[in-house]
Amino acid sequence: MTKKRQMSGRTVAELVTHLGRIAHGEGFVDDLTPAQWSALRYFSGANRFSRAPSAFAEYHGTTRGTASQTIKSLVSQGYLIRRRSEADGRSAHLDLTDKAKAILADDPSLTLMQAAGALSTAARRHLANVLERMLGHVALEHGKRPFGMCISCAHLKGDGCCREGKPPYECGFLGEPLDEAELEQLCVNYEAGKASAVKHAFSRAALR
Ligand code: SF4
Repeated sequence: MTKKRQMSGRTVAELVTHLGRIAHGEGFVDDLTPAQWSALRYFSGANRFSRAPSAFAEYHGTTRGTASQTIKSLVSQGYLIRRRSEADGRSAHLDLTDKAKAILADDPSLTLMQAAGALSTAARRHLANVLERMLGHVALEHGKRPFGMCISCAHLKGDGCCREGKPPYECGFLGEPLDEAELEQLCVNYEAGKASAVKHAFSRAALR
């Protein structure tokens, strides 16, 4: 009987790192650096509670000073607009401009997205579950916030049904109503609690 070869954790880690390195290396497009592309992707996918410089610094694993320089350059190039947070009126809140939305259609990581899209649904589901578990583990080991989506967050309330005087979904942590589109956006206050976000995303997509 043929014995199956075992794949070491080191080999898997090298593959993941290599993939990230190649995608990162493709970042010098349209005069934007990989860090600037990362920021545009972050502010495009983050929910309204997480579009602050400090949250981006944490997500990107960089210092607040470095994150602030990246953001400043994107504001001066017309890709981000800085507003005052509606929550406290003091902290900064950043939104993408139309120019940024247009350039994201040519995101250099599209090849990575296409490679993932070419996998079967089952393979994507399996891979996404595995990566989600690895991310959670690494974030915990490094004392970082895990970031995640409402659909698997312990603070999500509601079942999508409209009842009089109550929103279909609500954030129990912030006491804010949530609309359906926000359920799959990244959040800095995320706390793992419910079933995997990935499983939800795939089962929701299968119903569409
Ligand atoms: S439910 Fe969780 S992920 Fe969603 S906004 Fe609230 S804290 Fe963030």
